[in-house]
Amino acid sequence: MNFHEYQAKELFAEFGIPVPPGKVAASPEQAVDAAKALGGSQWMVKAQIHAGGRGKAGGVKFCKSTDEVKAAAAAMLGRDMETYQSGGRALPVNLVLVTDATNIAKELYLSILVDRDSKAVSFIASAQGGVDIEQVARETPEDIHTIEINFVEGLQPYQCRKLAFDMGLDAKQATQLTKIMLGLYKLFNERDLALVELNPLAILDSGVLMALDGKVNSDDNAEFRHPKLAAMRDLSQEDAAEAAAVQHNLN
Ligand code: ADP
Ligand code: MG
Repeated sequence: MNFHEYQAKELFAEFGIPVPPGKVAASPEQAVDAAKALGGSQWMVKAQIHAGGRGKAGGVKFCKSTDEVKAAAAAMLGRDMETYQSGGRALPVNLVLVTDATNIAKELYLSILVDRDSKAVSFIASAQGGVDIEQVARETPEDIHTIEINFVEGLQPYQCRKLAFDMGLDAKQATQLTKIMLGLYKLFNERDLALVELNPLAILDSGVLMALDGKVNSDDNAEFRHPKLAAMRDLSQEDAAEAAAVQHNLN
């Protein structure tokens, strides 16, 4: 099963992976309320659909006023959105995520999955994030770094630090990346996930690392062990407008 970005970010927050504060909305008015509740003066309005590539399809909008938030939400909600990753289908937008707009210095790519060949849980990372990772793999494969995790030893902090330095991060950022990877590894194992992807994992102007987008797929065979995840799945399949009423807080 797949999850929306806001649901992925709720899981990230639970496992200590930094995400910007955000709230979901099912109407332009709710989006304005969400922006006001978040505070600040710059927000992103993001269509919640089960596909990436939203940025290029008009599903990720930078807003500098609550009027812009309202207009962006109105333009997205109730529409069907097709992206280059939506498999030729137009997906309904029933919810938007209103979230703090952050100042980005650099965008990284980080994912954890089971490597089909080695059958080992692996991290894949690149300093060339934010873009289509398949394209990076095709054009500059040397920019893709892979770490295999030994099943018995688990993820070792030195592996994370080496990866950080391979991607050109400094020592402070390496410490943050290590914490994020240990959190992801725990999330991946405890919730029987099949894939977690952070693209981008941003380095902000302040030097802080933060997940600005999240994709989570879980192992359907393990669903019975995770009623909370299954409940999230039900919500995402219905794409229920009531979801906004639940007022998910990402703090
Ligand atoms: P998608 O992968 O579906 O296109 P993303 O969530 O990755 O959507 O957003 C696309 C781009 O928008 C990101 O690569 C990033 O540059 C920018 N972006 C997304 N969220 C934020 C945010 N909270 N603050 C600033 N920029 C953002
Ligand atoms: Mg993305």
